[in-house]
This record gives sequence, structure tokens and C-alpha cells, in this order.
Amino acid sequence: MNPSKNTAESFLDDETIIEPRPVAFRFEAGKGDEHKATHGSIEAVLASAGFTPYQIRAIYYGNWLRDYSQLLDPKLVRAVDMPKNFPDVLSREALTQIVDVLAVREFTDLMQNDRENFKVTPERLGVYRPSEHLDNPKPANDKRSDPKSIDTDFEDGVAPDDASLQVDPETSMKRYLQQGLDFMTAQLNLARQAGPQSADGLRTLGSALHVLEDFFAHSNFVELSLKKVGHDDVLPWTSKADCKHALPLVTGTFGGTDIIASLAAPLGRILFSTDDKPFEATRPGVRYERDQIIQILLGEHPDPKWNDAHETFLSARDKWADLPFASKVEEIFNVIGAPGRIVGNAIGTAMQGLTTLFGNSVDDAQTVFGEDPNTSGSTDPSHSQLAKDHAEHPLHRLAALLAETAVLRVGQAMLGQWEQKFGVQDPAQIAAQYFTHPMDSNWQDALVREWAKDNPGLVMRATRKSELDNVHKKLQNSAEKALDRFKNESSNFLSKFSEIKSVKDVWNLITGK
Ligand SMILES: [Zn+2]
Repeated sequence: MNPSKNTAESFLDDETIIEPRPVAFRFEAGKGDEHKATHGSIEAVLASAGFTPYQIRAIYYGNWLRDYSQLLDPKLVRAVDMPKNFPDVLSREALTQIVDVLAVREFTDLMQNDRENFKVTPERLGVYRPSEHLDNPKPANDKRSDPKSIDTDFEDGVAPDDASLQVDPETSMKRYLQQGLDFMTAQLNLARQAGPQSADGLRTLGSALHVLEDFFAHSNFVELSLKKVGHDDVLPWTSKADCKHALPLVTGTFGGTDIIASLAAPLGRILFSTDDKPFEATRPGVRYERDQIIQILLGEHPDPKWNDAHETFLSARDKWADLPFASKVEEIFNVIGAPGRIVGNAIGTAMQGLTTLFGNSVDDAQTVFGEDPNTSGSTDPSHSQLAKDHAEHPLHRLAALLAETAVLRVGQAMLGQWEQKFGVQDPAQIAAQYFTHPMDSNWQDALVREWAKDNPGLVMRATRKSELDNVHKKLQNSAEKALDRFKNESSNFLSKFSEIKSVKDVWNLITGK
């Protein structure tokens, strides 16, 4: 996986190094702003390579799907032959549908013109596979689980002594990184063959770029690069191993915090939005995002009565559209004010279920804290110890700068191949050359030196464990806050239902009196 030094040097010697723009980046899914960049805004550099705005959106869609495929974790997915068991687990189909609802909101521009090619399907979304994010697949405990028994698309569970968890003495990199490189290469080859006219081609390019960006955000490449140019005190987040460069290139083991942050926030916006009026049926037959999410969740509940109650509510709402206002109010009262308030309870069941699901993930994430791989002899840091895809991390902008340089070069090569330009290198080959230990490549040295000179305070922060622990705590807190907000808003939302004791209450609710 590690190209020889000669190859790595030559591919930079005969090419001009592209100067990254002086913008801050953030790798999270989303649009980004002045202070934080996202997978989406990193790809905005593709505009300078000549990609059209449509192509960039379709590429970002592929990148975004990789992010959201992380929701389909073996802990959250129900096995095909297992009975319905919401809120403990959801079917792969249901989780995929939820991501599709989010995708329609995020990519309205693409969906309006080509719903079929951008619909989120189980095949396009996939499931969480550690290699697609370069995560260390080491199991959290010594028990070997068998994710493949849940769904054959999951990667095999890895035994604690598996060879893929070792450091390769020659490349000084963890061996499991090869799988991520293979995935990226396959996606780039698919994209090259499919061409720019194909939505699938653009999507698979985005998928590959996601891996390339994660290489800089999820490994200690940036830390080791800083050490290489003289910033010895920067923490490497690994102990020494028996390999050529002593300190190996490693990535983190995955924790669940990012999942909550990425799901609780957008779902909260859909479920608790105050923009729409849930009791007002203006367009019969229309199913709003909130209806869809609740339908998906209640369809997963072992007791069908909740789903039935919700369906009754929706079809009653369809009929209200044609009723004059006063009788509409009376009808609404008949349904949602019925004894037991079964609709309110059904919606409550869906929302409480989500809260449980999120709560489990936060608990899991907390268990990965503790060990200090800088001193413990371990080469297995946690994801949160290394992850630089949040703006809070002192090395976030440096990681983004390097990722952007790599994305631009791969993008230029892909466009060159598509346009059949003479002498353009294979994009997969270019991308693979970035998968090295920093001691075996030098394209980054000047960028890293320059950035460190301009940001001595940030470099200093990367030398102190307490500083970085604070970053992790902050992220943990924001995940917990997202969960709390979700809990509060769901009970506020439900109190709207429980306040309804009479037709007059419904009237007041609708008219805001
Ligand atoms: Zn990722």
C-alpha cells in the first residue's frame, strides 16, 4: 500500500503543487461556513479543477452517503430473521428510509430533477464498514462478535490478535488501512469508467474522496508530519512499535458520539420544527417529513396498534382538508382527543424510542475514554482522541488543508481521464500515493512547516493532553446536549397533545389563542 519513495517523490516533482486557499475547513457532513468547513466545502475546491456546480453537488451526495452509512451500525441494525424490536434496533430498510428523508431535505436541488438516481437505497447507502472510514476495527472488548450474522454486508468481526491490527514493519502503518485503500481504489475505478454523465459515477467519486479526506482527519498523519518538521512535542497518539519509523501511522477505534451528533440534530429539526402546523391539513394525501419519520419508526414497533393509530390520524387529517374550519376542529378532537389519546401515545412511542436509541450510543461512546496511547504502550487510540474533523480540534485546519490538496489533485486527474486528456495519471494511482507514513512522503512538508509558523498557538495546544482532553469533553457534551434538547423538545411537542381536553382546546391550539 505504501508507494516506494521514488514514486511518491516523482509524482510531486513533475507536478505543480496547488496552493490551498486560505479557508478554514471542517470535515463533518454539511455546508460549512467561514470558521468551519465540511466534507461538502472541501469538495468546493473541485470548482477550481473545472467541475460544474451540479457535478460537485452529486459528488458531495456520494460523500454525504458515506457519512450517514455510519448509522447502520451492527448495534443499531436488526437482523433480517429477528422479530421487530424498536426501540432497541431498526431494520436496515427503515434506517435507509430515514436517511432518504434527510437526503431529500439536504439535496432538494438534485432530487427535484432526478429523484430515481438520487433516491437513497440500501445498495447506494451500504452499512457502517470500518474500512470505509479507515477506522481501527479492533473490538472494544475481547468478545468477538459476528456482524455478518446480522447482515452479510457488514465486515467480519476481528479477533483481538488479528494480523490486520498489527503495524507493518516496512510501511510503519497499521495493516488494516489496506482495506480502506482497496475500497477507495475500487470506487475511483468505478467513477472513471462510469464517466461524468452518470449520477452513479459522480456518487462513487464522492465516496472515494470521503476516504481520502478521512485519511487526514482520522489518522495521526498530521501529528507525525508536524513532528517530522521539528515540532517534537506534538503528541503522536500512539506508542512506539516495532517498525521502520518507530512511531507508526495509526487511526482511531470508532465511538458512537458522531452518530448522535449527525442524527439527533437533523431529526430534531424535522420532528420539532415549528414552521409547519401539524394539526392543519392543507394538502390531502401529503406526507410531511415528520409523518414519514414517525411512519418508519412505528412500522418497526412489535405492536402494530401504534402504527394503526398513526395511520388513522393521517387519513383523518386528509379528510379534514375539505371540511369547513369548525367541523375540522371537531373532527380533530375526535381523533386526537380520544380516550387514551392514542395518537399522542403513538407519536410519543416513536420519539421516546429515538431518545433510547440515542442514549445507548452516548453511553457506548463514554466507555472508550481512559487510556493514554502516548504513554501506555498501545498503538490503538480512540476515534475521539485522533479525530480532527471538528473545528474545535487545534489541528483541524491543517488536516483540512492537506485533504484539500489531495482532493484537488485526484479531482483534476479524474476530470482529465473523463475528458481523455493526453498524459493524465490514473486518479486511483494518485490517491493511493497519499496513503503513506509522513516519513515516506515529502509533498506535505512545506505546507506543514508554513502552517505551523503561522499558528504557533495551535501547535502548542496539540502538545498538551489536557487541551485535547478538553476538546473531546466538549464534543461529548455537545452530543449529550443534542440528546437533552431532543428529550425536551419531544416532551414539549407531546404536551401539545395532552393539553387537549376539549374542542375548545383544539380551537385555541390552531388559532394560537
Ligand atoms: Zn468517514
